Amino acid sequence: MKNYEDLSEEELNELKEADIEIDENASEVNESVCKDCNENLVKIIENKNILDGAITFHIIKLKCPRCGKTYLDLNQAEKYDFLLTLEKATNQKQSLESLSKRIMS
Ligand SMILES: [Zn+2]
Repeated sequence: MKNYEDLSEEELNELKEADIEIDENASEVNESVCKDCNENLVKIIENKNILDGAITFHIIKLKCPRCGKTYLDLNQAEKYDFLLTLEKATNQKQSLESLSKRIMS
């Protein structure tokens, strides 16, 4: 996997465009049953390819087939943390780059 610090500007733009947003409003569950309707949750795997497949995330979500509520799999917490870190780093690096461009030009 690429270190995000080594990403080129082009790659950073690609990262920005990639939809790696995390539904932070989603609840977290330990058991796979909907809290509202006691329905068994269905596992959905979302594949997110960024940087031409250099990085692929397989995000597992749990969805209630009755009310459609989405839950986060607690086992995925680390992955979500990483995504958030990556997103933050991308934003920071981009603002750093535009700042340095302004200073240098
Ligand atoms: Zn439900």
